[in-house]
Amino acid sequence: MGKLDDIVSLCKRRGFIYQGSDVYGGMAGTWDFGPLGVKLKKKMMDLWWRFFVEKRDDMYGVDAAIIMNPRTWIASGHTATFADPLVECKECKNRFRADKITDGYGESITTEEFLATHTKCPVCGKENWGPIRKFNMMFQTHVGAVLPEDMTENPELAEKNVAYLRPETAQGIFTNYKNVVDTFYPDIPFGIAQQGKAFRNEISPRDFILRDRECSQMEIEYFVKPDTWEGEFEKLRELQHTFLEGVLGLPAEMIHEEEVPEADRAHYSKRTIDFMYDYPNGREELMGLAYRTDFDLSNIARESGKKMEYRDKNTGEIYTPHVIEPSIGVERLFLAILAAFYAEDNVGESERVVLRLPENLAPYKYCVSPLLKNKPELVAKAKEIYDDLREKYIDVTWDDSGNIGKRYRKQDEIGTCACIVIDFDTLENDTVTVRDRDTAKQERVKIKDL
Ligand SMILES: [Zn+2]
Repeated sequence: MGKLDDIVSLCKRRGFIYQGSDVYGGMAGTWDFGPLGVKLKKKMMDLWWRFFVEKRDDMYGVDAAIIMNPRTWIASGHTATFADPLVECKECKNRFRADKITDGYGESITTEEFLATHTKCPVCGKENWGPIRKFNMMFQTHVGAVLPEDMTENPELAEKNVAYLRPETAQGIFTNYKNVVDTFYPDIPFGIAQQGKAFRNEISPRDFILRDRECSQMEIEYFVKPDTWEGEFEKLRELQHTFLEGVLGLPAEMIHEEEVPEADRAHYSKRTIDFMYDYPNGREELMGLAYRTDFDLSNIARESGKKMEYRDKNTGEIYTPHVIEPSIGVERLFLAILAAFYAEDNVGESERVVLRLPENLAPYKYCVSPLLKNKPELVAKAKEIYDDLREKYIDVTWDDSGNIGKRYRKQDEIGTCACIVIDFDTLENDTVTVRDRDTAKQERVKIKDL
């Protein structure tokens, strides 16, 4: 496993992830995926979608709008409670999350509790604090023709047009529950899945892509008959391991389930398991599995005045389904993958960095090269092989820069599974050198066997 600094440096050097708005000096808490990052992220998300949605008869996909009716967030409780404890240093005016600069306190820390810890300002070292204030993390915007001067001249109009960038994808699923039930008549249990962006105005974003202000989520709301929730929870728990370990190849020993004790659970949740992961900087949450009861559907029913019930086709029973929610952050999973497969080792005399990505995640299956760039007959043959392989496998790249050794180093770093080199023997007997990324062993292979 790599250190965080090494992974960040590889990401930048090889075009996986750049600092957001880099050219202007960056934008805190935002990151841009580069060409190789896009490939890896897309593969990861497609594997999830195939595993949890396409391969099942009980799953339905949605792609909801990011800007939703603000009543969504009143019903879900985000308007009132999606807030972090903000504390300001009266000396230097810097603002911090009170629970993050003290030990042993959660988000509900009070001003009295905080002052009693005698925490010093992490910036100026003084101890002169203002009171803790609740800071709502939703990004606010105005929808429609609202002028900046309306804020002061016509605050009512401005207020009426307030909207938020969604802080989670889950509500885009819950608000479509009735649509899916009315158009597809699914048998219960069934799930609705969504992948997409979510936004949180973190007070202090940090830890590379682990705590950013704009992220992507993959969430499922699985609707069950209330008295069956325990069995369904168990099945979904097992499936997360099958996906993380079986499909993505993450090492089981780096994944740890933590049963969240009642006192720390959201008030509506009867059971939550955090799937923790051994990241380079320590153990952090990778994903969560929560039993949310009928909390969300009942809130929506109350706020919208519309029934969120389900009528069992066989028994005629009518009830509000309960929900089990597996929720995973795309960036968190991306970093977990890089951390798991990043390695440094020696090939012969030289040290190298290698990303030992499984074939279903590697940006490229093959890199094709002519041994020498200045021999037209080699280049022509190599191009021909490159075109054929790309037709067959899609994820094939071309590299004729530098010498062979440098090309291998570069392809190892980006996780290309194997390098194919076309030399003078190729012209004679239609064989090529195939060099394996993990073992660095080379073998002669007939072109038709590639
Ligand atoms: Zn200060």
